[in-house]
Amino acid sequence: MPNPIAPPTRILMGPGPSDPHPRVLAALGAPTVGHLDPYYLQVMDEMQQMLRDLFRTKNQMTFAISGTGSAGMEATLVNLIEPGDEVLVCVNGVFGGRMVDVAQRAGAQVSTVDRPWGEVFTADDLRDALASSKPKLVAVVMAETSTGAWQPIEEMSAVVHEAGALLLVDAVTALGGVPVEVDAWQIDAIYSGTQKCLGCPPGLAPVSFSPRAMEVIQGRKTKVQSWYLDVTMLANYWGSDRVYHHTAPINMTYALYEAVRLIHEEGLAACFARHQHNHAALKAGLSAIGITFAAQEGHQLPMLNAVRVPAGVDDAAVRGGLLNRFGIEIGAGLGAFKGKVWRIGLMGHTSRAGNVLLFLAALEQLLAEQSHECSPGASIAAANAVYAADN
Ligand SMILES: *Cc1c(COP(=O)(O)O)cnc(C)c1O
Repeated sequence: MPNPIAPPTRILMGPGPSDPHPRVLAALGAPTVGHLDPYYLQVMDEMQQMLRDLFRTKNQMTFAISGTGSAGMEATLVNLIEPGDEVLVCVNGVFGGRMVDVAQRAGAQVSTVDRPWGEVFTADDLRDALASSKPKLVAVVMAETSTGAWQPIEEMSAVVHEAGALLLVDAVTALGGVPVEVDAWQIDAIYSGTQKCLGCPPGLAPVSFSPRAMEVIQGRKTKVQSWYLDVTMLANYWGSDRVYHHTAPINMTYALYEAVRLIHEEGLAACFARHQHNHAALKAGLSAIGITFAAQEGHQLPMLNAVRVPAGVDDAAVRGGLLNRFGIEIGAGLGAFKGKVWRIGLMGHTSRAGNVLLFLAALEQLLAEQSHECSPGASIAAANAVYAADN
């Protein structure tokens, strides 16, 4: 017989999954009911409303796709794109690149506007790109998890809509960690994932479609290529008709429900302030030992800290030491950043002072063993100074 499941206790400080709150894990273990049970239907209704409040939207079509963040990406793209449609994707990291791939597979004519990794797009970058094309859709990643860059959305939105296009936003890492304003920023379609700042295990992808996006979907000449992700069919289940489409992942829905309830209990402003604060402490600590950020100053995400591996330090040895000796997981660099950056996540329930201080203490020790010069305790003192400043 194989052993029963007994995972090690970790502190998940990578690019996701993050540590789920104990209440979220408890919700996962609650009794399963049927996917048309009156209790479950009520949970769905309440969760949809909590998601609207989190996305800051009145969009009726706000619900959760069965699947991870990438399923949310695929769902928004395949529903909005018909073969031959022009799509413009902003690419400054891995996830913009993934959107290009998904859009091409859906038959779109994809063009890109590119920025170096770690930088963000300005409204002018987009204006230039839109001068020479007339896309149906412009897609952009708000929190680029591969680089730690925080893309402002609001000023892009006006440019996209002036050009008559729809705006699609990837908020997988953004949602629950920084303000996301779907209605105020006139976002037409948006998706997220449960395992980043929502503090839930991976498995669902919250999405929201504006009335304008739904009009486009309802006016399609061709069927959506994906049966599973067809939003008009999903609308019959998540809407008032409750028509069976596929069996909803009941217990994952409980988990997401509890995760979003926790965020509203804390309050959105307090939740975002907590993410910002722990980031400030981590950043102060890292700079005290000479570690710098990979993303452009002024556009660094609070929940995903991509930092440069110091010269002469063995990237894999430090990550291995963190995991095996201290139980801390951080992320390696992806793509162009492979071997060059560490990605330190402070997402959702992981974003706590204790985690920041423990991580800095462990990192200092591992760097000292690799003869990286820094005065012992310097990073911890700097982080504590940030925490002490508000007492
Ligand atoms: C994690 C992530 C995704 C993909 O989500 P999965 O849950 O891994 O499928 C997409 N976009 C961004 C910005 C992400 O951080």
